[in-house]
Amino acid sequence: MSSKRLFYLPGIVLVVLSIICLIAYSSLVRSWLDNQVEANLTQQAHSVARSLEKEKPIASPVKLYEFIYEHGLVGRNRVSLITRDGEVLADSSLNRFQLKSLPSHADRAEVLQALEEGVGVAVRHSEVLDDDLMYVAVPVSYLGFDGVARVAIPLSRLEGMVVELDFILAGLLLAMVTLVSGLALFTSRSIQRQIAAQQSNLEHQVEHRTSEIELIQRLANMLAACNTLEEAEQVTSDVLPRLLGDVNGAVSMMRASRNQLEIKLDWGGEWPGDKAFSPEECWALRKGKHHLSYDKHTKLICPHMHSSEEVQTLCIPLIAHGNTIGLMHLYLEEEVSEEWMQLAFTVAEHLGLALANLNLQQKLREQALRDPLTGLSNRRAFEEAMSKTLMRSERYQQPMSLLMADMDHFKRFNDNFGHDAGDYVLKSLATLLIDNVRGDDIVCRIGGEEIAIILPNTSEQGAKVIAEKLLDAVRELALTFNKMSLGKLTLSIGGATFPHSGTRSTELIKLADEALYRAKNSGRDRYCADAELGEADIDAGIELVQPAQESPEPVDVPKLAQPEAAN
Ligand code: GH3
Ligand code: MG
Ligand code: MG
Repeated sequence: MSSKRLFYLPGIVLVVLSIICLIAYSSLVRSWLDNQVEANLTQQAHSVARSLEKEKPIASPVKLYEFIYEHGLVGRNRVSLITRDGEVLADSSLNRFQLKSLPSHADRAEVLQALEEGVGVAVRHSEVLDDDLMYVAVPVSYLGFDGVARVAIPLSRLEGMVVELDFILAGLLLAMVTLVSGLALFTSRSIQRQIAAQQSNLEHQVEHRTSEIELIQRLANMLAACNTLEEAEQVTSDVLPRLLGDVNGAVSMMRASRNQLEIKLDWGGEWPGDKAFSPEECWALRKGKHHLSYDKHTKLICPHMHSSEEVQTLCIPLIAHGNTIGLMHLYLEEEVSEEWMQLAFTVAEHLGLALANLNLQQKLREQALRDPLTGLSNRRAFEEAMSKTLMRSERYQQPMSLLMADMDHFKRFNDNFGHDAGDYVLKSLATLLIDNVRGDDIVCRIGGEEIAIILPNTSEQGAKVIAEKLLDAVRELALTFNKMSLGKLTLSIGGATFPHSGTRSTELIKLADEALYRAKNSGRDRYCADAELGEADIDAGIELVQPAQESPEPVDVPKLAQPEAAN
């Protein structure tokens, strides 16, 4: 059965039940009315009988006629006085002449029954009145009259009353059915409307959830594809506002020393909180669990968030591989739902893992390209830097120089002062070199105590100036190790320049190495340029050396040497 038919079924049942009720009620009313009328007629007949027995009028048709009218015994009903022999002496519905033509009523059922039992009732068609009547008769006897007093009512009048009552009931039932149907219709419509609204709400929620899941997946994929924090920042500032809405957020990372956190990524406006802070300043880190600045239990604002009471703040620790690696913090202008919080936790989970992976990648990359003792770029990084610098020099038609430096008699130094002192000297030398070259220059440790220095945008004259400056700085170095002076140190440097010495990396390295060899052989503690370049030419050019110009794009090479690392 279709749902539409089911929908109308209660209404149909109601109508059928109403019709059955109506029929049952109608028959009940009829039988009740019959009883009532019968009782009423009996009472009236008795009243007529009593009046006659009391007043004892002469039993002639004229006198009896007058009597029943004068004593108000005739109402709307027909009153007849019939003798025991069946002669009708008076009848309120007939005149005297009609009476005379009436047949004997001695065999009438109501008359016989009244004389035998005291009350007689009969329903019959009256030929005189041409109507169905209900007759009720009671015996009357006094000196001069012995018979029955009979009262009758036309059934058509009774029928009229029944029909009238049926109409009233039908009207009431119709009104009730209409009311109930109307109410049912209204209720069902409003339930349908509610269901439709709930369904659309549910659909909207599913749609919203699906788009959230898609965005989270995209965030995870994009973060996994990031190579640097800058890229991760681009991804987060693009995806997170779509996921978390218009909130000001940031991610801070724990330093290796674990005593400080620094803001690494931020989105959604200028960051009003601290850019660096200690773990003790954050309730979330202290609790090891997210912290809302105020909820129904507490009102504690993290000191690093600098927030007023109106703005809710949320800090969520970022955990990866069991370690707290940072914190995601958010300023919430509006109250947020539990679902939103769950979403923020999911985002924090992905961010934590992605940032931990990025950190790891960065560490591995640095380890692969950095010399652990001095913190300088290693041979691999040197080779990459050389080819990139050469390419850039070619593109921008700029010179570049390569210096190869080697400590003089370092073996002897090691023998005299020990290997630890030698290591200390190497670290100090790295710091000195970094401090004495420009930001774009790249200092690499390519062998034991052999250092290569790549000088972008530097001519042979410029290279000589820098080499001499480095030689001077090393000469002036006065190191002490374990409170012991390490004496004088010197360096020998060989140099080659693109494009005069050569155009390929191997060529330049070979020529710079040869120049270094010449510097060693000609007494050490000096700079020798590539033999192809006349010393006189270089010296002549020094006067013309301009301060090295920055290349249009600084060389993006793994320039890892940092004084911090060398210390
Ligand atoms: P030269 O003036 O000809 O360069 O003489 P040198 O003794 O410096 O000779 P060479 O450059 O061939 O010697 C390299 C020495 O550097 C060998 C080794 O004792 C020392 N060395 C290399 N790597 C390290 C290091 O990591 N730590 C220390 N302490 N010494 C190193
Ligand atoms: Mg040496
Ligand atoms: Mg050497």
